[in-house]
Amino acid sequence: MSLHSPWRADFPGILALEAEGQTYLDSAATAQKPQAVLDSLLAYYRNGCANVHRAQHLPGERATRAFERCREQVSEYLNAPSAGQIIFTHGATSAFNLLAYGLEHLFRPGDELVISALEHHANLLPWQQLAIRQNLKLVVLPLDQSGRIDLDQAAQLIGPRTRLLAISQLSNVIGCWQPVAELLRMAKTRGALTVVDGAQGVVHGRHDMQKLDCDFYVFSSHKLYGPDGVGVLYGKPAALAKLKHWQFGGEMVQVADYQLAKFNPAPLGFEAGTPPVSSVLALGATLDYLNQLDPQAVEAYEQALHQQLMSGFAARDHITLLGEPNIALASFVVDGVHHTDLAQLLTEQGIAVRAGQHCAMPLMKQLGLSGAIRVSLGLYNDGTDLERFFSALDSALDILR
Ligand code: PMP
Repeated sequence: MSLHSPWRADFPGILALEAEGQTYLDSAATAQKPQAVLDSLLAYYRNGCANVHRAQHLPGERATRAFERCREQVSEYLNAPSAGQIIFTHGATSAFNLLAYGLEHLFRPGDELVISALEHHANLLPWQQLAIRQNLKLVVLPLDQSGRIDLDQAAQLIGPRTRLLAISQLSNVIGCWQPVAELLRMAKTRGALTVVDGAQGVVHGRHDMQKLDCDFYVFSSHKLYGPDGVGVLYGKPAALAKLKHWQFGGEMVQVADYQLAKFNPAPLGFEAGTPPVSSVLALGATLDYLNQLDPQAVEAYEQALHQQLMSGFAARDHITLLGEPNIALASFVVDGVHHTDLAQLLTEQGIAVRAGQHCAMPLMKQLGLSGAIRVSLGLYNDGTDLERFFSALDSALDILR
């Protein structure tokens, strides 16, 4: 019996792609959206949109109330102590840039920023460029064979000069959960600030900020089945208080004169200009949708899909997985076959997977690969999507091998 997602019909995009003959297996890049998101976007514009935090008129007041309610929803979703700890950004990437500029004033030449070998460029380049600007050392934690950050080596590398640790919770290339709790503990004993890239992790299960206890947590709405254009930066109050304002403009000031201005604290002080109001409201609708799913049923279903993916790979020769994926996404290469040739033949058969370096060029270089193919799953994927993928893979490999 093939696995059938009880939630597939909630996602018009996946049905539309299916009708077009497309099998969508690229949810780690961006996920399809539930009908609730489409309804929210339409309602916001159809019922009369308005800017937030500016006007006292009815539409403005209504939009502001709904916008701030979404901030509360995000904080409830993350079990953050208060909504004031949630900054809306334009995505995970802009949250990392905010952090790298906002924290820059804390570091002195020779200080060490610690990341890992598998970071997405979004959690690598802002720190790399900060290190170059301020003459800091960027320390890179190596991985073990399974694709997890090696804790023994981390214990050696996280040292007295470590001022910040920024690591991914779930790799977008290897699909394996990282030992975040242990790494955060090591960093905290050194008094370092801690940043967790939750861009992939937030999509699977619930993550409690009070238990995770990092200083900052970052994610993008569009991978969590929400709209694009909005991301979240969660921070502990003491960590948020360390951030220097970095983008300047409307609604982030308390008072402004020609020569001087005084800025709002977080969150508003870090949301200069008109925020992505429609996207924030639709993110709220996404969380409403996700909150009414049975978390155990979702987890069991994601595991079952993952098992099917792993068994399919295990049943085929010449395939090498990158590390040991344990949820929802896996990257692979095939002996003697270039990933772009394989990707081309999969594309021709209507299989939408991602091929290339997955915004993790240094990792690929370290693995000695020019690229890999990534299959990633959403809660709307059926077993038949994977059957189609493997059948297309077999046909492609009959030609290429
Ligand atoms: N971190 C990880 C682990 C990711 O997978 C991504 C997106 N691929 C990002 C950060 C950046 O997210 P965005 O492009 O939405 O800013």
